[in-house]
Amino acid sequence: MRFAGKTSSPVGFREALFAGLAPDGSLYRPVEKPDLSQLFASFDARTRFVDLASRTSAALLAPEIDASVARRIAERAFPFSPVLRRLDERRQLLELFHGPTCAFKDFGAQFLAASMEAFVETEDGRIQVLVATSGDTGSAVAHAFHDRTAIDVIILYPSGRVSELQEKQLTTLGGNVHALEVDGSFDDCQRLAKAAFQDPGLARRLRLTSANSINIGRLLPQAFSYAWAAAQVQQTAASGGRRGAVKPARAGAAHAEAVNAGRGPVFCVPCGNFGHLTAGVYAWRWGLPVARFIAATNANDEVPLYLENGRFVPRASLATLSNAMDVGNPSNFERLLDVFDGDAKAMATAIHGCSVSDSDTRAGMRETWERHGVLVDPHTAVGCVAAERFIATGACPDGEVIVLSTAHPGKFTETVRAATGQAPELPERLARCLQLPKQAARIGTDLGGLRGLLLERFG
Ligand SMILES: *Cc1c(COP(=O)(O)O)cnc(C)c1O
Repeated sequence: MRFAGKTSSPVGFREALFAGLAPDGSLYRPVEKPDLSQLFASFDARTRFVDLASRTSAALLAPEIDASVARRIAERAFPFSPVLRRLDERRQLLELFHGPTCAFKDFGAQFLAASMEAFVETEDGRIQVLVATSGDTGSAVAHAFHDRTAIDVIILYPSGRVSELQEKQLTTLGGNVHALEVDGSFDDCQRLAKAAFQDPGLARRLRLTSANSINIGRLLPQAFSYAWAAAQVQQTAASGGRRGAVKPARAGAAHAEAVNAGRGPVFCVPCGNFGHLTAGVYAWRWGLPVARFIAATNANDEVPLYLENGRFVPRASLATLSNAMDVGNPSNFERLLDVFDGDAKAMATAIHGCSVSDSDTRAGMRETWERHGVLVDPHTAVGCVAAERFIATGACPDGEVIVLSTAHPGKFTETVRAATGQAPELPERLARCLQLPKQAARIGTDLGGLRGLLLERFG
């Protein structure tokens, strides 16, 4: 498969992976539309996630990556798997928080790191991955790159503006993970990273590369969990269950048939930058049966509004309980537009939008706990509420909604406890790092300090 920016010419996976952004400043998107429907249909409820990831990435990335390399990447990236858990008659949770940092961003970061490693280990020399983070993304990236061959990772984070747990996750790994505490804001960190990438002095001595969330190497693997979940529930449909038949919500919509023909589950996706949803839409375009997507947002509802009235109006982001989804101008929206050729109606036929307020998010957390004995984090709660509302419209009288559960509730103890009266436990692998000493170098917001440090350590 090849990838291209909006106006730039197609490149292979390796080039898109290491470049991050296309030369025209837009996001790389797949140029081809491979038909993987046979492959997807060959997966069943016994298919291991790592096997599905290996075979799907081999199919997508051939001939650039052959089957044995694809297998090695998948095995290194995914020592963990999603877990499907039934919430009630109509809703299942697809738990994506069983990776090293207990959030779904592990899927993208792990695959990106393993892919870069696969390329770098066939070459001479080392690369330096530089990322600016406001918290969670950086820890997923740091853990994913920790101990990878011939790669150093440098994390810039704003001093005093990340939680204690987030800081410990970034600063206690050591080895090839270098945490730099910046005396400034997240915006300062981003500016510094950008300046470093453009600095000719650094370019001569180092091989700097980025690991931003917009990297195609982080996006693609997020498609795999949709295929895995669909294979799990497909079994139910085939064995005579009542799942599967889903009617389009807007009867008469011209695109409805082409979109789903009533097959497959409904996926409800808690959205911020819309990378996760875009990956699901890619899987569907490549032949995965999906009846419909629900784009669940918090008060940052510019995409649900677009799906309603066809106008996209980006705004400054609003702060909410589900803060990893506080995005007012989602970067992946351009990739979504590209899939639907800018046709808002076609997009609205495939994707139903739903915005959930903070008070409804709290009520959602309380309800899943009181009715089903399940604690969910605020991001997943947005999805649970959106799924319930969608079911209540009668749009899928017989179908099942799979809600993507994006973070472990223990990462948001205070919010969960305030809503439910229950304090979820912090998973052991996160609790452990709280005991370890912080290792971080402190730098200012001018490029000079960062440049000096980078040249001294890696030049
Ligand atoms: C990043 C994130 C999201 C949103 O994912 P996008 O791909 O940005 O839409 C949802 N939940 C959690 C916990 C996240 O960290």
